[in-house]
Amino acid sequence: TRPYLGNPKYTIEVLQKYGFVFQKRFGQNFLIDTHVLEKIIRASEITKDDFVLEIGPGIGTMTQYLADSARAVTAVEIDDALIPILQDTLKDWDNVNIIHGDILKTDIQKIADEKNQGKAIKVVANLPYYITTPIIMGLFESHVPVESITVMVQKEVADRMQTGPGSKDYGALSLAVQYYAEPEIVANVPPNCFMPRPKVGSAVIRLKRHKEPPVQVQNEKLMFRLIRASFNQRRKTMANGLKNSQELNYTKEQVESAISACGLPLNIRGEALSLEQFAALTNAFCCTAS
Ligand code: SAM
Repeated sequence: TRPYLGNPKYTIEVLQKYGFVFQKRFGQNFLIDTHVLEKIIRASEITKDDFVLEIGPGIGTMTQYLADSARAVTAVEIDDALIPILQDTLKDWDNVNIIHGDILKTDIQKIADEKNQGKAIKVVANLPYYITTPIIMGLFESHVPVESITVMVQKEVADRMQTGPGSKDYGALSLAVQYYAEPEIVANVPPNCFMPRPKVGSAVIRLKRHKEPPVQVQNEKLMFRLIRASFNQRRKTMANGLKNSQELNYTKEQVESAISACGLPLNIRGEALSLEQFAALTNAFCCTAS
């Protein structure tokens, strides 16, 4: 049988064999729990037809599981020291391709074109937490064909992605994620499932990309500017946030008339507005302001 990783004993063996030293700056916390690995694979709903992009394979623990379930896997890893290890731990799988590089500088569209004839890919990862938001927003905003993203993130970040108006965790990230995808937290994962143990709790969240956006908005860029401005000054009213934004150029009158046009009170705060209401507000600005 193939030498599967995914438990502490084998992980330690591999790390010792190569004298591997964990790099904090790369957010390296390797999974050492087979139940969590199986849960991620199940949640990602991968079939033998699927092409999977894995971000940050580490020593290849989850890559082995992905390669068993998918047609093909491409894994992008930044750390030089992990490349020879991956070549060793994945040598028995012929459907895995390792790219040595930074995911934020990788041409994912090209990978989808070459490996999946431009069809929608699935992304699965135990993410490096220091760049969770740029990775996820980059995948959505770049319009690369992505069907779903199943990722391990910091618990608090998973909560922010999934929550709605009225919660303390609600903010620009919640709205951005929910505009593009339907989020679902599929597992909570304690620190002892990783080596070394992270200081924070983690969660696996699946983001299923919407086929059509859930709201109709005349100017997507403007909506995201309005959202950012509304949450910039959390303790102030939305009207103040919009008037003071560097990214927007509206007068007090324009701001107030757009808010009123949506049937909202002038003292409302950004955290009270749903995605639908932000879309309506955007459309009100498009109609009333220049
Ligand atoms: N997938 C492995 C696992 O579950 O055990 C490792 C997960 S670890 C949380 C994150 C991985 O992402 C590390 O291997 C790290 O070196 C890699 N990484 C960090 N920054 C990266 C970047 N910008 N591009 C690609 N990989 C990166």
